[in-house]
Amino acid sequence: MKSITIANLTINGDRLNQSIATLANIGQLPNGGVKRIAYSQEDIEARNLIQQWMRELELEIIIDAAGNIIGRYTGKNPVASAIATGSHIDTVPCGGHYDGAYGVLAGLEVVRVLQENQIKLDRTIEVIVFTDEEGSMIGSKAMSDRVVGDPEYYRRPDGTDIQTCLERVGGNWDKLTQARRNLNDISAFVELHVEQGPVLESMGKQIGVVEGIVGQRRFNITVKGSANHAGTTPMQMRCDALVAASQVVLLVNQIGNSPGQQVATVGKIEVFPNAANVVPGWVEMSLDIRDLSSLHIDSLLKQLRVHLEEIAVTTNTQIRLNSCLHNEPALAESYIQKAIALSCENLNLSYTHLPSRASHDAQELALISDMGMIFVPSKMGVSHDASEYTSPEQCIQGANVLLQTLIRLGKSK
Ligand SMILES: [Zn+2]
Repeated sequence: MKSITIANLTINGDRLNQSIATLANIGQLPNGGVKRIAYSQEDIEARNLIQQWMRELELEIIIDAAGNIIGRYTGKNPVASAIATGSHIDTVPCGGHYDGAYGVLAGLEVVRVLQENQIKLDRTIEVIVFTDEEGSMIGSKAMSDRVVGDPEYYRRPDGTDIQTCLERVGGNWDKLTQARRNLNDISAFVELHVEQGPVLESMGKQIGVVEGIVGQRRFNITVKGSANHAGTTPMQMRCDALVAASQVVLLVNQIGNSPGQQVATVGKIEVFPNAANVVPGWVEMSLDIRDLSSLHIDSLLKQLRVHLEEIAVTTNTQIRLNSCLHNEPALAESYIQKAIALSCENLNLSYTHLPSRASHDAQELALISDMGMIFVPSKMGVSHDASEYTSPEQCIQGANVLLQTLIRLGKSK
């Protein structure tokens, strides 16, 4: 077909970057950041704009019960399962131009370029805008059937109930189960996203082939000592909870730095009674640990528990670990990683494999479909901030990898 073949097809970079700038105008803050909280007026305005663009592309538009916007570019084989891409357009209270929005807009650009070249893939391509990624992830969780049954769980900080929120975006809480998807209708999901971390930039790589989204465990650690007079209690007779907690912080850091790709953090600590003249009697602290391998996390936690006991003995305290979050890792399928890597090679782009240490809608889709993710560099690794930046050139490179990857995956077997 003409001089353009599927193998050398590229996206229209100016058009892509223009669409990123246009969407960023909705909810723009004086400091250049973007505020489009899910279900807000700005979110709804942005959702309307995406639907208008989908209509211009003559996509079949479905708003499911979770308010997810699904734009379908029908393939040659309409009964074959679809290939899906997309991300979110809601933001944190002061977000940037790229987190989520980039993946949705690159997906639309891929469809635009296929359509203007009159190319249909065997499989239908779906471009999905997931509802409320930055908060509850209710959109992607409705697809994977992991929505919590109690609507109170989803009440907004401003008091609005989830029923009202979903109605605002065309969804319906009572029919949420209708939003479920499975491998028979989505055979693969590929999310393009900014890295939101410094790895690609520091390695000088253009593209990240994501190996999976790390599993995450979170615990409350309580340290029980005994509060007593800071003047009259001899050093050797103290049960100082903060001294024990300090050793726990160092231990967690040591575990984070031991061989492997894990990260481990104590990010929150409270001391009681928190007075200058009292030996601390009680400490509550958090532990967050993440890795791509659940087994590896298990073995690190086992080591941690052994050392916690030692600290408890030497400091005369009791240390308890209570689990408050357990997310399993979501691994990217190796055939999708290969398709992404091959696309990079075709486009002469440098790449590396890396885990995603942030949550994404892709982790839910991995439960019902084959999943892959493509990362582009984030300047200084910054995200969830007005200064979040990925250059126009880098945005174009990532979108071209998405285009080539979807073409590879769009062939029905
Ligand atoms: Zn995101």
